[in-house]
Amino acid sequence: MPNCLTLKKSNCKNCYKCNRHCPVKAIRFSGNQAHIIGNECILCGQCFVVCPQNAKQIVDETEKVRVLLQSGDPVVVSLAPSFVANYDGVGINAMRDALQKLGFYDVEETAIGATIVKNEYERMLKEDGRDVIITSCCHSVNLLIQKYFPAELEYLADVMSPMQAHCQDIKKRFPNAKTVFIATGMKRSSLNIKGLKELEGSGVSYCAVCDGAFYKDKTVAVIGGGNTAVDDALLLSDIAQKVYLIHRRDVFRGEESLVNRIRTKENVDLLLNRIPTAAGMLTKIGLLKQAPINTLKISIFSTLALRPMFLSI
Ligand code: SF4
Ligand code: SF4
Repeated sequence: MPNCLTLKKSNCKNCYKCNRHCPVKAIRFSGNQAHIIGNECILCGQCFVVCPQNAKQIVDETEKVRVLLQSGDPVVVSLAPSFVANYDGVGINAMRDALQKLGFYDVEETAIGATIVKNEYERMLKEDGRDVIITSCCHSVNLLIQKYFPAELEYLADVMSPMQAHCQDIKKRFPNAKTVFIATGMKRSSLNIKGLKELEGSGVSYCAVCDGAFYKDKTVAVIGGGNTAVDDALLLSDIAQKVYLIHRRDVFRGEESLVNRIRTKENVDLLLNRIPTAAGMLTKIGLLKQAPINTLKISIFSTLALRPMFLSI
């Protein structure tokens, strides 16, 4: 399996967060650095997402693509649908125009491959007469079964992923073509509030495990409503004197057991329906009656010292 994730050693602070979030515990520590064990990893990317130090890096294949573009053969892009999340209001035609300007021959959506895969599933159901078929377009789910549940392999549909099916289809239609798969993925969630950038690293943190100890016996705020936020608030409740857990909705998204535990902590205040609008400013959200969904009436609720502030969203 090719190496898709690497470790930028100097950045790793040995905080164990990646290991706690790895679903198969495929990370080992040596020399105070977190190393991925290639033959145990299922390439889920969790360690990349949660690392607060950006120590995990996705291998960059831009240079390989440059070489392909210079080869003289047509290079066709299979474009994953996630591009719409990264380029607001941009459609496939605009993406095609942009990529053709960079030298690509054509751009097609990976959905073509998804249709090929779906047709193959339908054929299997009709012709193979199997009672149970496990199907997933997710590479990590397929790897999980291959590596950790070999007894279930007989149920796993032996079908290519949409990306592979699409690239194979492109090569049938353009015999000399080279293919490049582009999946734009996601960005780390942050908040678009005044003063945040300036305070990153000196009052605004993305990792309670790494930075929590700096705030022993202090008052801290955690922003978020999922498992990470509740988990961070629990951890900080044993370090800080007071913890405010602030969530923009009226219920937490985190697991019930975690939420129940946080409710028992006497030094944790749960502040719902509130968002920070600037470092040091907290705002209460109220839905405007009879207004279209998503229309929010925002009024200043109170001012609270939100430094240090842990962004766990
Ligand atoms: S989460 Fe990042 S900084 Fe922490 S141990 Fe893993 S790689 Fe190192
Ligand atoms: S990519 Fe997923 S499975 Fe692999 S080491 Fe990271 S968290 Fe674990």
